[in-house]
Amino acid sequence: MNWRLYRIQYNKVAFTFVYRNMIIYVEKRVRNLEETRSIIDMFSWGDVIEIDNYKNLFDKKTGWKILEKVMIIAAVNTALLEAPALYGYAGRGFFLKNSMNCVFDCKYCYLKWAFPSDIPIFFVNYYDIQEQILRKVDSLRKNGYEGDIWLYSSDYSDNLATNGMTRFLEYFIPCIEKLENVYMEVRTKSSNIQDLLQFDIPKNTEIAFSLNPQEIINQYESKTSSLDDRLEAVNALLQKWWKVGLRFLPLLEVPDYKTLYTDFIAYVLDRIDMQKVFSIFIGGLMYTAKDYQTLLKRQPYLDILYTLQKWNDGFYRESPEVRAWFYDMFSKRLLQKQCYVCLDSESENIIASVQR
Ligand code: SF4
Repeated sequence: MNWRLYRIQYNKVAFTFVYRNMIIYVEKRVRNLEETRSIIDMFSWGDVIEIDNYKNLFDKKTGWKILEKVMIIAAVNTALLEAPALYGYAGRGFFLKNSMNCVFDCKYCYLKWAFPSDIPIFFVNYYDIQEQILRKVDSLRKNGYEGDIWLYSSDYSDNLATNGMTRFLEYFIPCIEKLENVYMEVRTKSSNIQDLLQFDIPKNTEIAFSLNPQEIINQYESKTSSLDDRLEAVNALLQKWWKVGLRFLPLLEVPDYKTLYTDFIAYVLDRIDMQKVFSIFIGGLMYTAKDYQTLLKRQPYLDILYTLQKWNDGFYRESPEVRAWFYDMFSKRLLQKQCYVCLDSESENIIASVQR
């Protein structure tokens, strides 16, 4: 077992604590999978502990996150969850739950508090998850649905950031490629595209980069790639003719946001050929009432929370004036591309009111 002794000094007071290097909890049912072994091999100094069911650990609140680095490798029984209307593309959409808890630490992210535990968990029963996808597609088609089906694969974590460890994309891009009118979006704040450059260019997978001004990244998107690194990754994939999307969300009402975002969009337009971009989505900061109350309790000093109000649809959102400014500015500046608004049923009225 590996133990390390750490000493830190804070306000002239020294603290000493013991840090156990790494614990990998592995469900017995996935212990012998190759996918599990390859993750464990990457942390050969870690301790592996077998468990019966990840829920016994994950669903309990513990204090050990302070002292130990921990991860769980497990299997998921239900990997597909229907996405809400207006979340993304027209057609049927499903969140693909292949891991939970993100390696990044965005201050506005509700996910940090959405689960009982913040231990990163990776579901590696990939072939079983693929079966679940095939069954879902099959059942929709048998019931007469012929339209597009979108799988949103990075809504509980960031699959591109962790792909070097999980090899998620190596398993799922080829699987989705074989299906008709089935697509996968991989949303990311990472610039970790080295693995992607080795692939044959897929036609059914879109890599969608979330972008925000560097000032916002510094303040609210801890540990994520810098804006310049993300833009460089966008261009590297565009050069290879990958389907690349841009996600301008969440757009934040920070002080002097109009100047900040006006300069930002000019900066992006200078560096990206928008004609090559596959899709653009924009959206403001928003939460369900429950998530908002949780965030407020956990992070009472997070300034952007106080820019939101509860609206008729039950969500906490920025004011219509602020949303109108963002929607109008982005749709005008990105004229050559349709700019979809994410999860805001009032967006058309709001934009129309600005243009009147
Ligand atoms: S990258 Fe996305 S999932 Fe990860 S912490 Fe940030 S907002 Fe949350």
